[in-house]
Amino acid sequence: MMMRASETLRAYDTWVIFTHRKSDGDALGSATALFEAGVNAGKSVSWYSPDTKLPEGYRYLSHFDDFRTREEFSFNDDDTLYVFLDCATEVRSVSGYDTRVCVHTLNIDHHEDNTEYARVNCVDGKASSTCEVLYRIFKAGSWEITPKIAESLYTGIFTDTGGFIFSNTSKLTHDIAGELIALGVDPSIMADRISQNKSVPDFQIWARALSRVKVFGDGKFAVSMIYADDFHEAGADMTGTEGLSQMFMTIRGVKFAAVATEYPDGTIRLSVRSREGSPFGAGEFARAFGGGGHERAAGCTFDFPAVEVMSRLEAEILRRYHVSIHVGERRDVLYHECYSPHQ
Ligand code: 5GP
Ligand code: MN
Repeated sequence: MMMRASETLRAYDTWVIFTHRKSDGDALGSATALFEAGVNAGKSVSWYSPDTKLPEGYRYLSHFDDFRTREEFSFNDDDTLYVFLDCATEVRSVSGYDTRVCVHTLNIDHHEDNTEYARVNCVDGKASSTCEVLYRIFKAGSWEITPKIAESLYTGIFTDTGGFIFSNTSKLTHDIAGELIALGVDPSIMADRISQNKSVPDFQIWARALSRVKVFGDGKFAVSMIYADDFHEAGADMTGTEGLSQMFMTIRGVKFAAVATEYPDGTIRLSVRSREGSPFGAGEFARAFGGGGHERAAGCTFDFPAVEVMSRLEAEILRRYHVSIHVGERRDVLYHECYSPHQ
């Protein structure tokens, strides 16, 4: 699979890279790593997503300034390879891709729910990050991993594993990180750039969200919300919330967290996290509202008026929680009826 992806990349002289909206470290890391590898191989490369602005904290990545905003794209050049990175479905990025018409597409990803929408699909749902998959593609095809590429790849691995602490962290993840360090990455500098790098307005947004937390359901669930006015009042743009929902998982006993963000047009987006011990996964919850992601980190839109979002979220979560308790009790009763020794 890695070799096939590598050969596909080699076969085209022009690459167009797409990443998902609301860029995170893995999307940016994989795009900039692939961009640099393409330039080094003499390819003509460009990179798009529907985002109007990238998170400033990632400016240290090479080719950060080569990003261009596009809502729509025409996939009509037979000599161009269109590469989707970190996108579980094609609708997560620019519109205009018709899976039946354009065949020059490559999909590199690590979402378990990836719909394999491209001609060539290189998807490993067990990989920590798209950057990990990309590293393996580069190794399979003997692409040179320069220090700049190594920094980009390390960024995605670091961010998608929460700094090597989430359950998607494996020996392989650490082995690859070790290789990247050997290639020139300084882990302490990277941790500073990624984690100790909030702007004051972003910090104030986090403070507002943290102060609004509501914990309920035997202390298992946490929800919070950021309103469009918060961004306005703090002077923050909307790119600084990566990692915020994870923060709520640091509350003792919390197994599931959902943080809602209100966009200026009134759209509400949820960022959802879960861990072992949650009666339902983040992915399952997000899918119920038309979203998706990983089992323990997912997102969706939530079509309720902003003033109702917190209470609706609580109600939706509690409803599922009570169903799970009820199913558990039913299972216990059935088990008892079937297996308890009769007198
Ligand atoms: P985050 O909460 O960090 O924005 O997203 C968590 C994970 O869920 C990421 O892997 C992200 O790509 C995925 N995700 C977020 N929103 C959506 C969505 O609307 N649809 C799908 N399929 N995945 C999403
Ligand atoms: Mn990712």
